[in-house]
Amino acid sequence: MQEELLHSVVKLTKTRDVDSLESSLLSTIHEFIGCQKVSIYKSTSGRGELTVECSLSLEVLDDKQYYWEESERILSPSSELLSCLHSACIIAIQDQHGVERRWIPITLSDKPIGAIAIVSESLSSADQVLLNAFCCIYENYLTILHENERDKLTGLLNRQTFDKKLKQLIEKQVVKHHKTIKANKGRKQHEEAMSWLAMLDIDHFKQVNDNYGHVCGDEVLLILAQTMEHFFNPTDLLFRFGGEEFVLVFEPVKFEEIERLLNEFVALVRRTKFPFVDKLTVSIGIAKVGPYDFPIHVLENADRALYAAKESGRDQICFFESIAGDYTRPKGDDDGVDLF
Ligand code: GH3
Ligand code: MG
Ligand code: MG
Repeated sequence: MQEELLHSVVKLTKTRDVDSLESSLLSTIHEFIGCQKVSIYKSTSGRGELTVECSLSLEVLDDKQYYWEESERILSPSSELLSCLHSACIIAIQDQHGVERRWIPITLSDKPIGAIAIVSESLSSADQVLLNAFCCIYENYLTILHENERDKLTGLLNRQTFDKKLKQLIEKQVVKHHKTIKANKGRKQHEEAMSWLAMLDIDHFKQVNDNYGHVCGDEVLLILAQTMEHFFNPTDLLFRFGGEEFVLVFEPVKFEEIERLLNEFVALVRRTKFPFVDKLTVSIGIAKVGPYDFPIHVLENADRALYAAKESGRDQICFFESIAGDYTRPKGDDDGVDLF
């Protein structure tokens, strides 16, 4: 037992990404504690709204059959799950047949960010200790993975994780695309919502540093990042790409919606009071993310659109699709993003 336990801990901490950490945790809990169902819930709050998602779930059908269920938004979370998320305390209830439902909070930097939910026979004290220990290992390791993914100054996702995250989004889109084609066989296709990638760059940021110093420049970067986190949806991916450049990846929305949203953000930055700086503006280049696109090409398209937004006077957005065909980036211009 001890040897198996050690192996499971080694397996848990061997993984390098959050998704495989989640599946390792659930199979470890199932293997050592036994359960009917075990799930990971994640919560995010933005614009005063709490969003709960069941990130991964393992359901035991019989001795040999399991059912894995992936990412699903929970529209009406149970009151026990909500209590667990709000109080960051373990909640357990038992029904008259002895089936126990238990929610264990997961915290990151002392903030509840989700919960592990387990449905099982009533757990012995030893099993409860083991379950709590697995959840603690998961939480500690999640903290390390999370820090590795983040930019130190702003706390946004860093550039190193961009490729992986965009590939994941594109893979999701491919699966969805196939499902839609299957469902629409023989029916007329209608215009679908698309995923979008936006590249945002602060206008004349060098002047901020030159006039007020690097520390003030850093403060501006931090406030802008916080403004973004507040303004966009918790499910949108926000990266600090380097210097004063940010990349934003949006869940599928229609063209009109993304256009309205980003114009609104440009206007919000224009009227935001930053320390020392009288007026700060940003320019944004936007490109579609198609199900079969390479991340590098999407990035290149958004970068071209950003360049066009700068050329047209800054403080505005520009869609790659509106300039494609009549624009080629001048040779030797190194102002843009370094493609890897
Ligand atoms: P443009 O409108 O064309 O984008 O002009 P710009 O001045 O914003 O662009 P440029 O590329 O000339 O300058 C970017 C500046 O960003 C230069 C550099 O000093 C500053 N910068 C890059 N990283 C950081 C950082 O981490 N902190 C601070 N304070 N400044 C940074
Ligand atoms: Mg700039
Ligand atoms: Mg720049």
